[in-house]
Amino acid sequence: MSLDLLGKSLDELRALLAQMGEPTFRGAQLYHALYAERRFDFSQMTNLPAALRERLARETRITLPQILKRYHSTDGTVRYLLALDAAGAALAAPADGKPTTIEAVFMPEEGRQTICISTQAGCAVDCSFCLTATLGLIRNLTAGEIIGQVLVALEENRVRLGGLKPQTNVVLMGQGEPLLNYVAVMAALRILLDPNGVALAPKHVTLSTSGIVPGIERLALEKVRPKLAVSLNASSDEQRDQIMPINKKYPLETLLAVCRRYPLRPWEKLTFEYVLLGGFNDSPEDARRVVKLLNGLRCKANLIPWNPGELPYAPPDAARIEAFRSILAEKGLPVFVRYSRGQDIMAACGQLALLESAGASLTQITP
Ligand code: SF4
Repeated sequence: MSLDLLGKSLDELRALLAQMGEPTFRGAQLYHALYAERRFDFSQMTNLPAALRERLARETRITLPQILKRYHSTDGTVRYLLALDAAGAALAAPADGKPTTIEAVFMPEEGRQTICISTQAGCAVDCSFCLTATLGLIRNLTAGEIIGQVLVALEENRVRLGGLKPQTNVVLMGQGEPLLNYVAVMAALRILLDPNGVALAPKHVTLSTSGIVPGIERLALEKVRPKLAVSLNASSDEQRDQIMPINKKYPLETLLAVCRRYPLRPWEKLTFEYVLLGGFNDSPEDARRVVKLLNGLRCKANLIPWNPGELPYAPPDAARIEAFRSILAEKGLPVFVRYSRGQDIMAACGQLALLESAGASLTQITP
């Protein structure tokens, strides 16, 4: 199968063009056409000579994830069910030979939209409140498959967003634990954050982790990196062990120590996400313990009321959400209650599990 260019860095494209006997600046032109101009058909890359376009079309390809289904929410959110190319599946060929499917979510908002993307198909981390965990890990995504989700969502909404340079947030919060697919995720992020690439600003891109400590340490050393969000979801190790088995490997003390060492840029705060599970982790005592845990960190907290779904947790009631929020706020912690978008189409936090819609059974959709 011919070489897929999507996900290739500037250096890789320069080297490829040099190999083809072309001047290396053609690699930069190809990079610009692909990521900055979002041209996925070689014939439209008018910054390249016609003969080179024809040769690239013969010898290489550009494969975007294919939209199998769009689920439209009443709140404007769109969940995309995407099929990945079989070449990526060669990384871990599925036994049934079917293409791997993943999900991305587009959430329009006043003035700015957010695209939530997956970094793995399924997930091995096994958080008990998350439907993605029910899939297990299917495979890691390639850099091209990660970028491709952003490009598909931008292209789909190009007209309504007003062209090539929309104001876009991207969150790596879909299926998978990004720091367990580190190399591909960083390769994708370097292109997404490159001013000559997709040109998203680091302030507008957030990587969310369940707390993979070596991954956070590695990310801290990167020259180009997104903002970091950590899924806290509990106020003690005992509680976190029950819902996030990863806590046994990287308990709260270790996780928060690495967060304290994390080199924040002057404009940056860490985000701690806290899914409020009714009757489990939403008491005033929990809130007070969270305040202590986060003491001294330059951070904000996002409280995410549990989305009713297939799993045996209750949504927290409104009074408890407000009591929890006000305890954090009174202690000076910036805190926001984030009601998940797209709940009716299973596009909300922790709901990405290839389901048809709210109320669907836990069967994976097969294309
Ligand atoms: Fe994986 Fe995130 Fe779900 Fe945990 S919450 S199982 S890390 S996708």
